[in-house]
Amino acid sequence: MIFYVFLLDYRFIMARIAYVNGRFLQHSYATVHIDDRGYQFADGVYEVIVMYNGMMIDELIHLDRLDRSLKELQIRKPVSRAALRSIIREIVRLNKIKYGLIYLQVTRGIAKREHQFPNKSQPSIILTAKSITMPSRKTIEDGIKVITIKDIRWKRRDIKSLSLLANIIGKQKAIEKGAFEAWQVDDNGKITEGTSSNAWIVTQNGVLITRTADHDILNGVTRVSILKLADRLGVQYKEQSFSVQEAKAAREAFISSATTFVTPVTQIDDVLIGNGKAGALSLSLRNGYIEYANNEGATC
Ligand code: PLP
Repeated sequence: MIFYVFLLDYRFIMARIAYVNGRFLQHSYATVHIDDRGYQFADGVYEVIVMYNGMMIDELIHLDRLDRSLKELQIRKPVSRAALRSIIREIVRLNKIKYGLIYLQVTRGIAKREHQFPNKSQPSIILTAKSITMPSRKTIEDGIKVITIKDIRWKRRDIKSLSLLANIIGKQKAIEKGAFEAWQVDDNGKITEGTSSNAWIVTQNGVLITRTADHDILNGVTRVSILKLADRLGVQYKEQSFSVQEAKAAREAFISSATTFVTPVTQIDDVLIGNGKAGALSLSLRNGYIEYANNEGATC
């Protein structure tokens, strides 16, 4: 028994550390109450911030989106922004993250299980962090496959809500078909976005297209930074819907998200995009984004 305790202590030194409502805990012992509304109703929101080369990418834009999601769902902020930024830094330090991701989740908190908002509840906040490996150059140049699926989600996809059932089912279908992502398609045959990324195409005329950020999609933080980059590089772009047929006839396609940056798509369902290799504009936007992540997009 003593030995066992010793082993646990040893593991604590090596272990991942999570933050739960004011406490830093060993990840495997970090738990929330069964009456937390995040667990009961997915009544909460989240953010994923990436650490690249020891710095956070677009931290403040992620925190702005977190505030917006909370406001839309009338969930109180659990801590001030300044406090949150220091918790983030502590979780990064404790987990020794150089390349990785920070996961941050806020729920309406613990309350008796009734659908309506509780009169009083203290919002719950948890943070975790983990290291990730960056994809090889070959993986990027080969690109990824996406499949198309019906978009069966609710109508407020602009809120980064914990309710991800349709997204996880979609991702599972993609994996089962040997694809990396599933592009969801609305009732008009237009692509909304991936299950955890935004969708982009480059037309045969070289115009970059991504869907307008309204209630139908999550306005990706990476999406916003890529649009700024496109502006700076003088790339002609349009924010408008595009159909599955237009995507399959595109010169290039790619996905964007905090964790995938710009990742070329070289196959949609059974159709190869371009020559089946990553397109030139996709690659230059990826490189431009990485440069941005190393400079003005970075906070430490
Ligand atoms: N769309 C959905 C549905 C997502 O889940 C994500 C990221 O998780 C994105 C788009 C991309 O957003 P971001 O660039 O902020 O990671």
